[in-house]
Amino acid sequence: MSIEVLQMFTVQCDCCKENYSDDHNGWSCWSEFDSARQQALDKGWIEKAAESEHDDLMHFCPKCFTIDDEDIITTKSGIKFQN
Ligand SMILES: [Zn+2]
Repeated sequence: MSIEVLQMFTVQCDCCKENYSDDHNGWSCWSEFDSARQQALDKGWIEKAAESEHDDLMHFCPKCFTIDDEDIITTKSGIKFQN
């Protein structure tokens, strides 16, 4: 048997730094970033689009944001943006 290092992806909340994991099967990392991202978004996570080419995408778990009547998202860390 040989041991290999694999690159895996997860989505981390930009507020509480918790990693997304699937409650159903316990998985917390995926072989492709888009799979990890889509899983998290399907489970109520949100994504903030990059505002400039230097920004990465930001992600927030359901515990770390609220959405008001006008669809404005406010994160616990104080970032506001349109849903
Ligand atoms: Zn969070």
